[in-house]
Amino acid sequence: MHKPKRNPVRIIKNLIILAGCVTAFFWMFFDILKRETVVSHDASVLVMGTNATFKPFEYKESGQVVGFDVDLAREIAKELGAELKIEDMSFDGLLPALEGGRIDLAVAGMSVTTEREKNALFSEPYYQATQRIIVPEDSKIFNKSGLIGKKIGVQLGTTGDILASEISGAKVVQFPAVPNVLQELASGRVDAVILDDAPATQYITAFTGLKVLSSPIGNESYAIAMKKSNYTLKEKVDQAINRMKEDGRMDALLKKYFGETR
Ligand code: GLN
Repeated sequence: MHKPKRNPVRIIKNLIILAGCVTAFFWMFFDILKRETVVSHDASVLVMGTNATFKPFEYKESGQVVGFDVDLAREIAKELGAELKIEDMSFDGLLPALEGGRIDLAVAGMSVTTEREKNALFSEPYYQATQRIIVPEDSKIFNKSGLIGKKIGVQLGTTGDILASEISGAKVVQFPAVPNVLQELASGRVDAVILDDAPATQYITAFTGLKVLSSPIGNESYAIAMKKSNYTLKEKVDQAINRMKEDGRMDALLKKYFGETR
């Protein structure tokens, strides 16, 4: 019987297809691996995401991101035997960055909320904060009910933003960074600002004619956020925070940035 002759063109074609399939398979395989372990890219590096417009927790000094949260994260990195890397980004980009594996920790004066807990793991809290109303010194707004129907400036994606959106008839104006929000208030383009207590008192000193109303409109706890599935890291971070609370390092940090322990 006549044996069909092998067609060299077809063999080469088939080989190319096979090589293509093998490459695609490995590509997909490694891509999945990469996605699973993105932040463990190198266990000796811990990537902290933050938004450096939140004094005294994170801000820039001669081009460097510094502050309470940076010192805190450095201590944690030391305990974990890792080197700390800082990624400065918009506050509302932090949780997506955690989810996408671009950062390991969000250390950004971030308040624990049930909504955020749906998408992230939170460490032990490390600071108790309150939300405050900031107004011009001659303002007729004296408390939360004075905000009804008013124009309120907030930092995008913050708890202040959420509080403002719950006030009836209020028009909420969102900005990416805290100094921009206060600039709007100082220029009279918004009637009030809702902001966390510590940055509120620190940032208004740069503007004349603004005051922080004394009664808080919300109590919150700051904690470090991590990827929803990263229980191993959460355990280590909690251990480090608890150790710092026990051995006085946390008190020393509070003293450094607030002049007293709270
Ligand atoms: N504590 C507020 C929040 O979690 C604001 C944080 C910030 O602006 N860095 O939304």
